[in-house]
Amino acid sequence: MARKASTIIIDAKLCKGCHICIHVCPQNVLKVSEHVDNRGFFLPEVVDLDACKLCRLCELECPDFAISVHAEE
Ligand code: SF4
Ligand code: SF4
Repeated sequence: MARKASTIIIDAKLCKGCHICIHVCPQNVLKVSEHVDNRGFFLPEVVDLDACKLCRLCELECPDFAISVHAEE
């Protein structure tokens, strides 16, 4: 059986809200948050964890190493 993601962590200190991760995700797992952070950035948020295929494109393309995808044990 294919492994699934257990969690996707976005480091709010490293993320600058460029949204590259949202655009490269082929599964539409992420979307832009409606809430602005204290630096004025709209960070990504996870909206469909079950759809994640663990392709790790979001991790690979993030210029700030701010997103990490963790698989179920
Ligand atoms: S690609 Fe990285 S820095 Fe850009 S929004 Fe996603 S997690 Fe944040
Ligand atoms: S690992 Fe792949 S499917 Fe999962 S959130 Fe990242 S880009 Fe989307």
